[in-house]
Amino acid sequence: MNFYMPTMVYQENDAVKNHSEQMAGYGKKALVVTGKHSSKQNGALQDVIDGLEKYHTAYAVYDRITENPTVDAVMEAAAFGQQEGADFVVGIGGGSPLDAAKAVALVIQNRDSSKEVLYQNISLRHLPVVAVPTTCGTGSEVTPYAVLTREELQTKQSISHLIFPELALVDGKYLKNAPLSVITNTAVDALGHMLESYFHTRATDYSRMLCQYAMEVWGMAAGVLFGTEPEEEDYGRLMFASSLAGMAISHTSTGLPHGLSYYLTCRKAVPHGKAVGLFLPGYLSVLPEEYEPQVIMALRTLGFGSLGQFLGFTQEVLGTLGLTEQEEQEMVEGIAKNQKKLDAVPFAITKEQIYQMCSMVR
Ligand code: NAP
Ligand code: FE
Repeated sequence: MNFYMPTMVYQENDAVKNHSEQMAGYGKKALVVTGKHSSKQNGALQDVIDGLEKYHTAYAVYDRITENPTVDAVMEAAAFGQQEGADFVVGIGGGSPLDAAKAVALVIQNRDSSKEVLYQNISLRHLPVVAVPTTCGTGSEVTPYAVLTREELQTKQSISHLIFPELALVDGKYLKNAPLSVITNTAVDALGHMLESYFHTRATDYSRMLCQYAMEVWGMAAGVLFGTEPEEEDYGRLMFASSLAGMAISHTSTGLPHGLSYYLTCRKAVPHGKAVGLFLPGYLSVLPEEYEPQVIMALRTLGFGSLGQFLGFTQEVLGTLGLTEQEEQEMVEGIAKNQKKLDAVPFAITKEQIYQMCSMVR
């Protein structure tokens, strides 16, 4: 077994403020990469700016990253960062700005490269990245992945380079005023990471340990998704569960539900977490009988009595989709060609079983 997780993580109240000296010390000028609105509303952007100013580190803000960032958006942000002379990158937001920040850090470092470099299998250096998550889903603050939309291929794909942030500053307070839909969609993405990583070809006792504890912590806070009045600690719990699940997928990568989700996101604009969550009951249902004790353990740890109850949960909080037969066929045929995702499944899955997973989404 082996396990590698090089990101320095602080999870605490006022994490950015408490560790701003370290954050500001990665270079002379930061490129802050974020989305249009939320980091201004939840205070994360101001916390980062205050921290950089306190230690006299210059910065420039690029705040035009949208959901499911494209390769072109990354190239635009990188050109801006180069022009500004940035020598490190601070990503603030959900997975979209954090992933964009990693890809931008690669492009800025490799000055004259074109966008093709993102998907080339060559070893390249990148600028240091600091990650400040504001959703509870992707775990991008502790993963080496940067998932971008490749418009010409009508799909999403992680870039070829593995870029762990140097520093992750995790604070549940940024979630407090988020709409329930953002909390739900992202918490369900984290759930997908736990389950796909646990039932993954590359899972080891190290990664399963992270998944198991992530499930326990997630289960403690899941009432929030059903509309239970949140306890103060629930926001931190959801973020913690997301980071733990991120560490697990850093080791294993994600599995089939993520592979299938990209079709729904790219073709039908379904948010990432929802697109993943809809396939999770189906994935558990096609696991061979010998996995049953582990499936029961996972569901109980999360707070579900049975697979049926779990399906009820995903349908209640995520809704259903209205997929046509043609769409279902395209999705299954597409994933059946994706050897990487098929290899992630720890048994020989058939096309019929993938159809079965999809039928639970309709
Ligand atoms: P996101 O796409 O980053 O953001 C979704 C929406 O939530 C945006 O409208 C954003 O607004 C808003 N938002 C973010 N934080 C908020 C807050 N605290 N309060 C209110 N609104 C908030 O969402 P995400 O689900 O976190 O990230 C999804 C992306 O991550 C996908 O591209 C997915 O493929 C990728 N992903 C990456 C990994 C990885 O390991 N790197 C793993 C799984 C998924 P603004 O635009 O205004 O900020
Ligand atoms: Fe995900």
